[in-house]
Amino acid sequence: MYDFAYHKPSSIADAVKLLSEDPDAKPISGGMTLLPALKHRLNRPTALIDLSAIAELRGVKQEGGALVIGAMTKHVEVATNPLVLGAIPALAKMAASIGDTQVRNRGTLGGSLANNDPAADYPAAALALGASFITDRRSIPADDFFQGMFTTALEPGELLIAVSFPIPEKAGYAKLRNPASRYAMAGVFVAKGGQGVRVAVNGAGPCVFRQPEMEAALAANWSPEAVAGIHQSPDDLNSDIHGSAEYRAHLVTVMAKRAVAAA
Ligand SMILES: Cc1cc2nc3c(=O)[nH]c(=O)nc-3n(C[C@H](O)[C@H](O)[C@H](O)COP(=O)(O)OP(=O)(O)OC[C@H]3O[C@@H](n4cnc5c(N)ncnc54)[C@H](O)[C@@H]3O)c2cc1C
Repeated sequence: MYDFAYHKPSSIADAVKLLSEDPDAKPISGGMTLLPALKHRLNRPTALIDLSAIAELRGVKQEGGALVIGAMTKHVEVATNPLVLGAIPALAKMAASIGDTQVRNRGTLGGSLANNDPAADYPAAALALGASFITDRRSIPADDFFQGMFTTALEPGELLIAVSFPIPEKAGYAKLRNPASRYAMAGVFVAKGGQGVRVAVNGAGPCVFRQPEMEAALAANWSPEAVAGIHQSPDDLNSDIHGSAEYRAHLVTVMAKRAVAAA
């Protein structure tokens, strides 16, 4: 680990100020990904801005037809929050499926989405639900947020404050877990709501993506059978020691059927 300065602000305004004063400073939420990266010297921030004392970054509230969840809200809090369980149970269930007890008690919604790991669960939920990303300077639609492997629309120093999830009529999620990490080998989140039918795939490719063929089929007939005959192309999917691109392509159809059945 390289040397760095450490700051623990107690307001969003102070965190934003600290980030704007140092272009090489980085926010840290639960540290589940960032700390191992620092230990392996894969990252060299000059300062860490610890967000854990900022109460206004945590919690869930309903605003009109959406749930707004603070960036520092932990996975366990999303999994057990009564508002989430009542309005978007698929999101609560998804959060409950992340990693293990330790990961869910430290990992945060904001850290997961800002990190945009291809196999993480939240990106699929945010993309399928048509979420909006609220930062210290703008609101970013989910369709513009995820830009590639570990890459998002967030600019250097831009702080993710909350994510607004429109409440869907129906939603469901299914993933095949990697038995070691519980990350998705392939996962599919389906949602039907004000933005129509949206289907997002995680784990299979280098970045979460929408599946337009499945969206059209489900818009015409919301049933597991509607997606059963749709085959995802293995072109551009991930191939690694855990599974080939062809295996992941097969999983996309299986997980889509299960997600619709769960919705
Ligand atoms: C063993 C293990 C198993 C896991 N299994 C799963 C799984 O099954 N599914 C899954 O989805 N995830 C899984 N994870 C990931 C975990 O859920 C964390 O959310 C993820 O590692 C990010 O960690 P964090 O939230 O602590 O963020 P950090 O590590 O603190 O930060 C991650 C990145 O986000 C940036 N960041 C953090 N907060 C903000 C903010 N508010 N604004 C802007 N940038 C910010 C940081 O600068 C950093 O670059 C697993 C992790 C581990 C270690």
